[in-house]
Amino acid sequence: MGELAQRTKRISGSPTLKVTTAVDKLRRAGVEVIDFGAGEPDFPTPDPAKAAAHKAIDENFTKYTPNAGIADLKRAICERYRADYGVEYSETEVIVSAGGKQALYNAALSLFGPGDEVITHAPYWPTLTEQVKLADATPVLARTSVDDGFTIRAGTILDAITPRTRGIIVNSPCNPTGALISEPDLEAIADVTARRGIWLVLDLCYEQLIYDAVPHNLPGVVARTCRDLAVICGSASKAYSMTGWRCGWTIGPPSLVAACGAIQSHSTSNVASITQKAALAALNSSQEPVRVMLEEYRMRRDRLYDWLIADPRVRCRKPAGAFYMFVDVSRALGADGLSTTTEFADALLDEQKVAVTPGEAFDAPGFLRISYATSMENLREGSRRLLEFVDAHAPKTAAAAS
Ligand code: PMP
Repeated sequence: MGELAQRTKRISGSPTLKVTTAVDKLRRAGVEVIDFGAGEPDFPTPDPAKAAAHKAIDENFTKYTPNAGIADLKRAICERYRADYGVEYSETEVIVSAGGKQALYNAALSLFGPGDEVITHAPYWPTLTEQVKLADATPVLARTSVDDGFTIRAGTILDAITPRTRGIIVNSPCNPTGALISEPDLEAIADVTARRGIWLVLDLCYEQLIYDAVPHNLPGVVARTCRDLAVICGSASKAYSMTGWRCGWTIGPPSLVAACGAIQSHSTSNVASITQKAALAALNSSQEPVRVMLEEYRMRRDRLYDWLIADPRVRCRKPAGAFYMFVDVSRALGADGLSTTTEFADALLDEQKVAVTPGEAFDAPGFLRISYATSMENLREGSRRLLEFVDAHAPKTAAAAS
């Protein structure tokens, strides 16, 4: 057997996509599954984006484009950030990539290398740390706390800085917790990164999905505090329900954008030409569909919360952003061979045909991530089954104690 490269031994495949694969397999075998695993909106892509894609095909806009994206789209991205946050960026400071994932990956490869430490907050979206490892650098975790609603605090992140720190990645709203960082906390981090020459990467893929009108002008904070070291990664996936189209972007200093471009030019080249036209239409047309989706997520969040907390062995808070309920089921573990949430999630899928992502995927044992990007009926029935499962398998003492 041929030996694989060392880097393949340092990383593991996406645990969130593993849930999708398991659901897919069951469905193909004719089993009906309620899927709370999927990290993607269940709404159709808004009509203007679809119409623009049809038009692109009909007009034979089907060839290579500039590697970093068509000029109109780069301008539309700059314009959206100007309108939303009041920040001024130009075309040389933006590159369009195949989803936020590639945007973040290009940035990791451009910024980090052997011997570098890169801090991010935990629980975390696993791709962030795996990408750091793929760049031959070392992820360092700053833990957020359940008692604090997993809020991302400057103090915990700054405490993790060492002379080797080369970057800090902040994901707000955070997948899986839905928590945010406040503007003052980000400012405190940005002040330090500016003084110490540390890169500050913002993963803003859920930026349009924040439920309350809390201040969250993170681009404004970094643009004024550490612009030369600030990297903003965004995506059309969640805001415009365009996960399958693959369109994301990086905004940052021209040298970084050029490096991302060079890497991309030797890997995937441009994002699909048709996708670019669709994303352009999504960014430029009315943002009403985003608000409609957000309102629907809010209703689902609130109902799901009420249903789940009916059982005190299931504890959660309403997330501030994104569309995940991060649920503490540690009180339901410990009996019937269920000692981890991975075992819990496997048995839940097996017995109740409900798919959830276990906390271990996010370095948060004892928790489950429930995506409420699914219908209210599914949420009602799936949460009923989840509570039935808890009732059947939780240690009896836990029920008595609560
Ligand atoms: N960041 C976070 C935190 C995510 O959860 C995701 C998708 N699950 C992404 C980035 C990337 O999404 P995409 O590549 O579809 O833009």
